[in-house]
Amino acid sequence: MSLTVLFAARNDDWHTYHEALEQAFAAAELDADLVTTADPEEVDYIVYSPSSSLQDFTPYTKLKAVLSLWAGVERIVSNPTLTMPLVRMVDPGMTQSMVEWVTGHVMRYHLGMDDHIVNPGHAWRPKAAPLARQRSVCILGLGALGRSAALTLKALNFNVTGWSRSPKEIKDIETFHGPEGLTGALRHAEIVVLLMPDTPQTENTLNKETLALLPKGARILNPGRGPLIDDYALLDALDSGQIAHATLDVFRVEPLPPDHPYWAHPKVTVTPHIAAATQAATASVEIANNIRRGEAGEALLNLVDRSQGY
Ligand code: NAP
Repeated sequence: MSLTVLFAARNDDWHTYHEALEQAFAAAELDADLVTTADPEEVDYIVYSPSSSLQDFTPYTKLKAVLSLWAGVERIVSNPTLTMPLVRMVDPGMTQSMVEWVTGHVMRYHLGMDDHIVNPGHAWRPKAAPLARQRSVCILGLGALGRSAALTLKALNFNVTGWSRSPKEIKDIETFHGPEGLTGALRHAEIVVLLMPDTPQTENTLNKETLALLPKGARILNPGRGPLIDDYALLDALDSGQIAHATLDVFRVEPLPPDHPYWAHPKVTVTPHIAAATQAATASVEIANNIRRGEAGEALLNLVDRSQGY
């Protein structure tokens, strides 16, 4: 009997994913009906984004798993009706996109590009950048995205450190973990990249005290989630010169309200949550593979650990 896979996201997501999912299901030899409406009792899997009108999972009595289209699951994980296995999105296309965003913005800071791109007075300031190996970059979060970003920056010769909840071993990268490891990770970091999930434990990871641990004039990149940074502490640190500049892709409230101080701040670059979108073609292959695994009795990949919230 064929499986029923319900696609529950925004209407325009359906246009983006419909064909890619059908192709991926065919390639995985899945006998599955991909639908946007169904009798809840007939649904085997749900491909899901939190922007969907589906918020009550109680009627889905046969549901085997919910497969998120998003990497961040903070808006789903606390839904008390969602008791079935929840899979977060790990998509090689999205990972590549994040690596490119991080690398581009690290290079902007490393090379001091702004001095020359915006130079209305035609100032002549011949000061070459140091080599990448003389520049310390710290990645907070060494999961699917942070680890790939760290490896790419290491391949460019940056002096990379990383921090995560549990211990990690990554060749040529000094790693730290747990609350007690954060000081060591930040102490020499001239550029800090935040790639952690939004959980009660990660909220305000960068705050007044931890921003003060950084070398004066450090730069911040946040493509993770807005609550990872205490906004007021960051604004104070920018104004005092402790932090030289921040590039922020994610915010506590999105879209970032027009009167938010970040928009007008001369030391802040705002990008509108575009660091890494899920890529339909590659993400669909991951979804199809996970459904195939579920049907074959194999463990699902990238299951959310509800006790950790990510
Ligand atoms: P992931 O694979 O789950 O990795 C998360 C990393 O954060 C892991 O290394 C984890 O440590 C670490 N972490 C979690 N809680 C921690 C804590 N309390 N202390 C220290 N480290 C902690 O997630 P991912 O796929 O790399 O994605 C990371 C985040 O990026 C997502 O949650 C999402 O918020 C964001 N994102 C943003 C965009 C965008 O366009 N801006 C796109 C995609 C994703 P362990 O390794 O020990 O578990």
